[in-house]
Parts: sequence; structure tokens; C-alpha cells
Amino acid sequence: MSTETVISPAPAADPAPAPKISFVSLGCPKALVDSERIITRLRAEGYELSRQHEGADLVVVNTCGFLDSAKEESLASIGEALAVNGKVIVTGCMGAEPESITERYPSVLAVTGPQQYESVLAAVHKAVPPKHDPFLDLVPPEGIKLTPRHYAYLKISEGCNNRCTFCIIPSLRGDLVSRPANDVLREAEKLVTAGVKELLIISQDTSAYGLDIKYAASPWKDREVRAKFLDLTRELGELGAWVRLHYVYPYPHVDEVIGLMAEGKVLPYLDIPFQHASPDVLRRMKRPAAQEKNLDRIARWREICPPLTLRSTFIVGFPGETEQDFQFLLDWLDEASLDRVGCFKYEAVKGAVANGLGDAVPEEVKAERYHRFMQKQQAISARRLKQKVGTRQQIIIDEVGPTVSRGRTKGDAPEIDGNAYVSSRRPLKVGEIVTAKIERADAYDLHGSVVGF
Ligand code: SF4
Repeated sequence: MSTETVISPAPAADPAPAPKISFVSLGCPKALVDSERIITRLRAEGYELSRQHEGADLVVVNTCGFLDSAKEESLASIGEALAVNGKVIVTGCMGAEPESITERYPSVLAVTGPQQYESVLAAVHKAVPPKHDPFLDLVPPEGIKLTPRHYAYLKISEGCNNRCTFCIIPSLRGDLVSRPANDVLREAEKLVTAGVKELLIISQDTSAYGLDIKYAASPWKDREVRAKFLDLTRELGELGAWVRLHYVYPYPHVDEVIGLMAEGKVLPYLDIPFQHASPDVLRRMKRPAAQEKNLDRIARWREICPPLTLRSTFIVGFPGETEQDFQFLLDWLDEASLDRVGCFKYEAVKGAVANGLGDAVPEEVKAERYHRFMQKQQAISARRLKQKVGTRQQIIIDEVGPTVSRGRTKGDAPEIDGNAYVSSRRPLKVGEIVTAKIERADAYDLHGSVVGF
């Protein structure tokens, strides 16, 4: 679940030595956005990024604390940074429980929590003071992006008002705090102007956007835009980039957004973490929109927008999950016929309410259910993918190869979904959007040739 992002240094533009920071970004796209903000500020203040801990003036580790395995990875990264460099500041999700870090590593210089940008910067200033003159001109107006230049994550809110029993994110990140619509749109527009072709909209609960600020309108161009999921999505769809929606829950108002997908305003793609299907497990998980008739809803969405790609994630082996619950989930998968699915074995996260909600499912049963789940879903995904063979698809190019380039269709998000491998009679460019004829599909990926530029 946790990934480490290697951060490449920006070219130095000032002959005088600037303090060098080595930055490690762990965890999900939301943590990556936090890293981008911190790095943008550091670069604005004249700090440089170093590719290695060795020789840097300081190391900042942005940690992930979602699962115990992610915490271990974070602790290992801190240990490595201390061993190689010695001067380390820790931030991110694990910073919400500072003692879990300082007990093992008392020599870390500072520990700050998620989204505490000012505290991280204050800690950096204390450890390695910035150069006197901030050379703001070194920073591009869209900030420093850690994703390739042609796509960017756009965070529309922080925190979460839900209390899913397996999740400790609300205790780490707090309740929902939405950004005003014009603030999000300004950032999105800057990104598009800087060459970003695809905006990946993220938050903990995208469909709840604006609830905390009572959907307040803010001025944008010649109009007012409400902080509402539908209104914001419509405006984002006007910016001329692909807009992909992540972490949406199946509330009734999502239906309206499917209409925008049918009109081609935003990508016909929905990342919607169902986590389970058995009503009893969903109730004990306390999932948002658990009461909705999700199969009916999916059928209606596909009626409104037939090319819709649905991605989801599930947890097997939730405490108290019976064989009957699990069988219900398998049958539901057959009916739902989702395109892309991730599956996790339940992991007892320290502090999660779910740990006490039923008998723990033995590890071997979890493993066996995981295997059955994946087998079933792989067949469904492969069948769905095959339906694309013979069609023409727009492909955004992620990596250029000598004969074949790797890209993605509108139905594939970067890093989590499959790829489309396309051959072309003229060299392609990263970020270019081409039309390809799909000739073949395997379990996860598509293969074809470019027929239009
Ligand atoms: S919606 Fe549930 S799983 Fe997602 S962040 Fe909120 S509480 Fe956690």
C-alpha cells in the first residue's frame, strides 16, 4: 500500500551553495501532495534537493501510518536516514503519534504531524537556516510536482467525517476540511497552463466535498462556483485536461457526475472503494453510503455512460467475516462486473475499532479468501478488457520506447491500473494523447497501434 517516491533534484541556478535537503515521500497520493507542498516551499526559500542522504544537510521523511506494514517501512526509512546522514526531521501520518518514532529513534530532530506544513518548515529552518534571500523566481508558478509533468494529483480537501471502523485516518488527519472551489480551480488552471494533461482528483472522500463549508460559493472568472462535488467537477472539466475522479462514494448525488462523464466533460472513470458487499460486514465497517443499493446504482451509471470504467478496492478477512459473507461478496462481484479491483487482507491496525468487532479471521483463511477473490476478479477484469479489442481508444503516453510506447486509456489511472502498449510510425512524446486501434488484451494490459495523432 505504501510506496516510496524518489525525488529528483532540480537544477541548481545559483552559484552560491544552498542548503541541501534529501526528501523521502512515503505513502498514498494524498501524502505525495503534502510532500509537493513542503518541497515547493523549501525550493521557494532557496533550499535545494539532494538525490542522496549522503552529503545532504538534512533529511525529511514524510511517513505513512495507514497500516502496520507501512509504519514499519516508515521506521526503516527513518533508521536508514539517521545511519547515513544523522540529521532527520519526520513528518506525515506517523507524526500524529510522535512517541512511536522518538521511542525508537530519540535522535530525530523534530516530529510533526500530517499537513503541518508550517511546523515542518520551522523545524527545517531551525536545523538548517535558509539562505538570506528567498529566490522565489526559481519556483515555477504551479509549484514543484513529484508526478511526471503530464499528470498531477489535485487534493480538494483534507481529513474525513466518516468513521470506518478499520481506519485511523480521521484520528490522524482530523475531520473534513474542504478547499474553496476557486482555490482548487486556480491550482488546476496553473497546472494545465504548465503542461499538465491529466488531473487526478483526490481527497479522503471526494463525494463529501464542501459539506463542512456548507457548499459555500466563491468567485471564479465571471461567476460564482459552489463548493459542491458536481459544480467543481463541471468547472474542472472546462479546463481542457483529462479529469479523473478518485475516492468517490456511491451517494445518490454521484449520479449527476456520471452525466458529465457521458457528455465527455470528465473521464468516464470512477474510483469507488466499496470494501465489501455483505450488508452485515458493511454495517460493521461503518462504510459511508453502505445503505445504498449499489448494484442498481452501478447498472444505472452504465446506462447513463456505457464506456464507464469502475475501479474499486476490497478487504477480505474483516473481523467476524463468515464464509457466507465472503460468498455474498463473490456473487456480488459477478453481478457488479467491475473493471479494475484491488484486494487487501484485513490487517489489524493499532487503534482501529474493527479489531474488537468480531473474531479475527485466521491468516490462512484470509489468504485462501484473497486467492479465491483474485481468481474470480481476474477473470471478470480480463473479460471487460477484452471488450476493448477492435475499438479505437485515446491513449495518453507515459513512457516512450524505441518501437513500442507505454500509455493509458481513459479507463486507466497511473500507477494503479493497467497500461496500453502502442506501436507508432512516428516517434511519440511523453504526455501526448493519441488514438490507437486496440488489437489485443491480456489480463491487465492492452496492445495496439496508433492510428491518429
Ligand atoms: S472514508 Fe473511511 S476509510 Fe476513508 S478515510 Fe474516511 S474513515 Fe478512513
